[in-house]
Amino acid sequence: MLELKNIDTFYGNIQALRDVSIKIGEGEIITLIGANGAGKSTTLMTICGVVPPRNGEVLFQGQSLGGVSPDKVVARGICQVPEGRLIFPDLTVQENLDMGAFLRSDKAGIRTDLDQVFALFPILKERRGQLGGTLSGGEQQMLAISRALMARPKLLLLDEPSLGLAPLIIRQIFDIIKQINRESNTTIFLVEQNANQALKVAHRGYVMENGRITLEDSCDKLLANDEVKKAYLGL
Ligand code: ATP
Repeated sequence: MLELKNIDTFYGNIQALRDVSIKIGEGEIITLIGANGAGKSTTLMTICGVVPPRNGEVLFQGQSLGGVSPDKVVARGICQVPEGRLIFPDLTVQENLDMGAFLRSDKAGIRTDLDQVFALFPILKERRGQLGGTLSGGEQQMLAISRALMARPKLLLLDEPSLGLAPLIIRQIFDIIKQINRESNTTIFLVEQNANQALKVAHRGYVMENGRITLEDSCDKLLANDEVKKAYLGL
């Protein structure tokens, strides 16, 4: 579904990604793990066209995303849940969800997806009239994921959904990520520092260090890998 081929991305003179190649098949959950500053968010921003690559190519469903603006990337079916959630704090839960569907005109489909989002996160239905900024951190993360789902993406990009959340809420969020993948066959690219949880929900994983992919394998193998255990699992 998505392929990054030999990507180099720069911020001015600073090279953030070096020869990055990643493949994500339809229906997969793929995780990208790495420490602070490794280049994980830059990888997502490169996919979305926010920070275009200097070299290499991003292919989505076989077509190049070169020169495609971020709004057109969303229109093609890629939706990102950014790090820090970035919901609209002064809009209600319902209004935030409506914003997620702003490119769509299929009213019946939007209603169906709203029902599905409320089935995944019943607390959001209870709080649909409440301002986004008054929700707890976990509820804001649920809202951010739900807002992205309202665009009915083919590929959902999640940037550190566990950041700053309590362990119980993290488990709940990761369970829902699996459920979204299973029930709607949405392909998911999950960027995480929480390697332990991410490797438990994903099918395959990539490890990034200093802007380079240093390892790629099935999650079972990465969980058993001595380097991964030492550097990312605290074992
Ligand atoms: P984090 O978990 O902290 O978000 P990350 O793995 O997502 O880390 P990136 O945010 O992609 O890492 O950063 C990769 C590198 O690019 C870092 O060295 C960072 O300092 C640098 N960088 C990120 N954004 C910019 C920017 N706007 N201008 C210059 N350098 C940047």
